[in-house]
Amino acid sequence: MASIKENLSYITSEIQAICDKIGRKSESVKLLAVSKKHSTSEMQEAYNAGQLSFGENHVQEAYTKVAELATLCPKMQLHIIGHLQRNKVKKAVEIASCIQSVDSLQVLQEIEKHCATFDKKINVFFELHTAEDTKTGFAIDGNDLCRTLEQCSTMTHIVPCGLMTIAPNTDCESDIRNAFRVLYKMRERLHSEFPEYNIAELSMGMSQDFRIAIQEGATMVRIGTAIFGQRNYDKA
Ligand SMILES: *Cc1c(COP(=O)(O)O)cnc(C)c1O
Repeated sequence: MASIKENLSYITSEIQAICDKIGRKSESVKLLAVSKKHSTSEMQEAYNAGQLSFGENHVQEAYTKVAELATLCPKMQLHIIGHLQRNKVKKAVEIASCIQSVDSLQVLQEIEKHCATFDKKINVFFELHTAEDTKTGFAIDGNDLCRTLEQCSTMTHIVPCGLMTIAPNTDCESDIRNAFRVLYKMRERLHSEFPEYNIAELSMGMSQDFRIAIQEGATMVRIGTAIFGQRNYDKA
């Protein structure tokens, strides 16, 4: 079995190859290593191979890991990518540099509240619900999302900087591609409706579909299995 380091360099070379093919700069695609259900020693292995950004779904799991890795991996950046319950927001704000799974005004207000008490600014991505087999995210008509963004001017600790989605889990490439296109188009719309924000990031693409995502304009791919191997759901 390939090591984490080998997997990382394989993914990096794949990103490079796709970018070369379609004429994008490979620096325009960031790699987030999704370490949920994997151990801190595996995360440290990735960190030592040069991977600084990690994505976690569950706040409590992330919180414990971050505490363990604080001195070993001082430059580690944590993104929360899983659905966030309001009672978990305080801990999420404490450990994360970015929350990618904002899917309601209520959660955003809660993030602002806790950031204010920590005097911390935080990057947020808004999640869009593009797939029938997932539950989370703003509706793709964009109405709720736009209403939420209208409130952002009073939230001084929130830095809106991107959109995130999970494409449908299917073999149908055109369904996957369409989900990514919805995200791309929403970014265009937000650029014209909210020029005061720099909503530039498109976080889309996972182990199975990151190649398609990059073709459709992803600026960040979130990859777990292809870096760390299968997750053991009995372990954590
Ligand atoms: C688990 C997860 C990933 C990574 O999925 P893989 O298929 O293991 O690459 C990416 N994004 C989100 C939101 C996830 O929950």
